[in-house]
Amino acid sequence: MAAVLRAVLADARAQLVSEPHAAPSVADLLRSAEGRLAEGARETLFPVINATGVVIHTNLGRAPLAPEAVAAMQAAAGYGNLELDLETGRRASRHDHLDGLIAEVSGAEAGLAVNNCAGAVLLALAAVAGGAPVIVSRGELVEIGGGFRVPDVVAQSGSRLVEVGTTNRTHLRDYETALRDHPEARVILRTHPSNFRMTGFTSAPAVDALAHFAHAHGLLLVEDLGGGALVDLAPYGIEGEPTVQDSLRAGVDLVLFSGDKLLGGPQAGIVAGRRGLVDAVARHPLARALRLDKLSLAALAATLRLYRPPADPTRRVPVLRMLTEPVGRVAARADALAAMIADVPALEARVLETLGYAGGGAMPMQALASRALALESARFSADELARRLRTGATGVLGRIERDVVLLDLRTIGDAELPAVAEAVRAAS
Ligand SMILES: *Cc1c(COP(=O)(O)O)cnc(C)c1O
Repeated sequence: MAAVLRAVLADARAQLVSEPHAAPSVADLLRSAEGRLAEGARETLFPVINATGVVIHTNLGRAPLAPEAVAAMQAAAGYGNLELDLETGRRASRHDHLDGLIAEVSGAEAGLAVNNCAGAVLLALAAVAGGAPVIVSRGELVEIGGGFRVPDVVAQSGSRLVEVGTTNRTHLRDYETALRDHPEARVILRTHPSNFRMTGFTSAPAVDALAHFAHAHGLLLVEDLGGGALVDLAPYGIEGEPTVQDSLRAGVDLVLFSGDKLLGGPQAGIVAGRRGLVDAVARHPLARALRLDKLSLAALAATLRLYRPPADPTRRVPVLRMLTEPVGRVAARADALAAMIADVPALEARVLETLGYAGGGAMPMQALASRALALESARFSADELARRLRTGATGVLGRIERDVVLLDLRTIGDAELPAVAEAVRAAS
C-alpha cells in the first residue's frame, strides 16, 4: 500500500517537472492510487470450464483432480509428517509415501515421483547412465512440446547420444552395430512418440525384444512413456496407448511417465521399475532439485489410491471418466444444456455430432465420439462470442469450427451445466 502511494507521488513529481502547470489535484492522486491498488489485487489465474472436448488440455492445466486428491492437498497444506516417522520421531524420506503405492498399482518393484516427466527422464538418465553413452533410435528423437527434445535431455543428463537406425526404420541389428562401436554404452532409451504417429514403411523392435536384447548385452532399458496409462483403454475404443504394466512386464527396467496426463493426477514425473535402480535415482543429487512438493505428493498419493481394487478408476479419476464415458451420456448432457438455453434471445443453439480428443501428448489422433452445442449469435461474430464466453464471470473455453462456436460436452461435467448455461446467457 505504502509502496503504491509512493509510486503515485513519484509519478506526479516527475509529471510536475515536465509539465509544471498541470499539477494533479488530490482527487486525481487518489483515483490513480485506487486504480493501481485494484490492478495489483486482480488475480491472473482463474478456474475455467473446459468446453473444448480435449480432455488433457495442457493450456488449461491438464488433468482436473479427483475430489479425493483435492481433499488430500488441502489436508497437506499445513504441517504434516512429510519427512518424519511418527513412530520413532526420526527423520524419514518423502519418497516413503509413494514407493509402495506406485509399486502396487504398476506392478513395479519400486517407484518414486519428481516434479514432472521431463525431470524424471533427465534424472533417470543422469542416475543410471552415469555419463556413459545412451542409445536411441532415430525414429524416437522426438520433440514433445514445451521445449522437451530427447537429444537435448540426453545431453543435459551428462550422457552422449548414440543414434541408431533411420527415421522410419530401426532394427535390433542397428543396436548391435552401435554397441560394437560404443561398447561402453550402458542404457537404451525408448521414447513413446506421444504427440505424432508415423505410418507407412516403418519398423521398430517390439519392447520385449528390445528388453531381451538390452539384458543379453548387459544394458538397461529405460522407457519414457509420457502418457502413463495404468488402465488399458482399448476396450473403450482408445487404441495404441501402451500401459505402464505392459512395459514393465515386457522387461523395461525403468518406466517414466507423467502424473497429469492419463494417470489423471497432479503434475509429477513417476519413475517405476527395479528396486536398485529406483534407489539409485532417489540418491542422485539432481533428485533434490527436482523433488515433488508436499501438495502434489499428497494429490498423487490420493489419485494412485483410486487405482487400488476394488475402486474402479474409470469412474473415480476424472480424466478416465471423461475418456471412457459412453457417447449416449454425453449426448444426453448436450440435450440438457440445449434445453437450459433455449430461451436465450438472438442465439441459435443446436446439438452437433463432433469429435473430441484425448490431447496432452497422448493419443493425438485418437478421436472420441462426442456431442457439442453449436452456438450462432445474431449479435456477435463467432470470434466475439467465443471471447465473451472466455472472459465472462465464469470463463468457458469452447472452440470455433466453420465460424460457429462449439461447446463440447465430453469435457463438461453434469455439475457444471448450470454455470455453462448462465455463462452463455450472459455472453449472448
Ligand atoms: C508429455 C511427455 C513428456 C513430458 O512430460 P511432463 O510431465 O510434461 O514433463 C516427456 N516424454 C513424453 C513421451 C511425453 O509424452
